[in-house]
Amino acid sequence: MSELKIELLGQPVLRQKAAEVTEIDDELRALIRNMFETMYIAEGIGLAAPQVGVAKRVFVADLKNEKDPRFALINPRIVSAGKDREKAEEGCLSIPGVSALVDRPMTIVVEGLDEKGEPLRVEADGLLARCIQHEMDHLDGVLFIDHLSPLKRSMLMKKYKTLLAEDAAAAQEKTPARRSG
Ligand code: ZN
Repeated sequence: MSELKIELLGQPVLRQKAAEVTEIDDELRALIRNMFETMYIAEGIGLAAPQVGVAKRVFVADLKNEKDPRFALINPRIVSAGKDREKAEEGCLSIPGVSALVDRPMTIVVEGLDEKGEPLRVEADGLLARCIQHEMDHLDGVLFIDHLSPLKRSMLMKKYKTLLAEDAAAAQEKTPARRSG
């Protein structure tokens, strides 16, 4: 297994509509293994292929609790979403250091294929439902900041740019840069 480079905001691959997976082969399974590894190192709970520079419709998730075992989902589609919505804090490994409240349906049912090519259906609520929707957004080139009002988004981007500038300055001083999820 090897750690993959996580693409940050500004990379075109994050704004691209990812392609359907046409073949579930060893290459794809290796990608999935490396995505899990990369996600664990970055201390995230979900990671979509475009975030590691691969424009394919696949993501991995692990909430690290007993109720929700980890899974990879290939060519996922949301088959239903509940009417109730909630706002909760969301961040993204591709926009490190910032987070915001994002409004999303509380429950969803999603279907796709697992890494063996078997159908996989996930009925999710709470954090898992949020995580899946966030990762599926990535497959369509959508980021959590796109769900914010223009004002909130510009405030968040201002903060993000300040953090980036601080990181760049820290790197020049050869001191460890800020790292976050
Ligand atoms: Zn993300």
